[in-house]
Amino acid sequence: MRKTMIVANWKMNIATSRDAERLSSDIGRALWKLPEEVEVALCPPVLWLQAVRPKRGRAPGGISVGAQNIHPEVSGAFTGEISAEMASDLGEYVIVGHSERRALFGETDELVAAKVAAAVRAGLSPILCVGEPESVRDSGDAERYVAAQLDAGLASIASGEDLNCVVVAYEPVWAIGTGRAATPELVQDMVGGLRKSLRARAGAVADETPFLYGGSVNADNIADYVERPDVDGALVGSASLDAESFVAIVRGAMRAAGIRYLPDPESGPAG
Ligand code: PEP
Repeated sequence: MRKTMIVANWKMNIATSRDAERLSSDIGRALWKLPEEVEVALCPPVLWLQAVRPKRGRAPGGISVGAQNIHPEVSGAFTGEISAEMASDLGEYVIVGHSERRALFGETDELVAAKVAAAVRAGLSPILCVGEPESVRDSGDAERYVAAQLDAGLASIASGEDLNCVVVAYEPVWAIGTGRAATPELVQDMVGGLRKSLRARAGAVADETPFLYGGSVNADNIADYVERPDVDGALVGSASLDAESFVAIVRGAMRAAGIRYLPDPESGPAG
């Protein structure tokens, strides 16, 4: 049984460690004692990982944390980079192959595959992002393009066991940060097709792989995605920077997935 999963991508936002601490504890307080069927993860700028999760163990509310990027090597002369092993000291996840990294930092499918392998090596769950630019969507080639991206991103995954920890996020580039969210039908068609091709490649483990949608998700549209059979949740950018809107997305996803969540507000963590 797959969990419902909502991941926050703060990108290069939230200016200070204090702001990061405040945002994560506001979210943690509102989502205190999440049911087991839900996974919520915050991916702040890596400098703020410690602030979001001050001690080993989960952030407030049982929320997981993750990095937004890693270098494939374990260590060495790579000024400014962090390894998967370093990220795994503070988090459970890492976003890999986000379209901004592909477009702005020239990340190729080969580099993305090496980062996925590094994450698995270090015991992190990679959140592998795939998605077509608008020109590819317009050309009618989106399904083939995204399936090839997924295949290439997983090229270094040798076994079904390694695939166990992989999360896939379908993020059409034209829907990210534009307010033009993809229709739930389009997302289900794409994600259903990706799951099918993953099943053909890796077998039954594909039925346990979480598939998220990302692209202008908000509290009003999250339910429409989560209600689709192959969509397990969302990767959220802009709307994750405000505690109230992010919490509303998580609650909307839980409702849509039929998950009961009635925490006692008095039982939450102090401060
Ligand atoms: C993202 O950058 O991964 C994203 C989905 O952003 P937004 O929610 O702002 O579209």
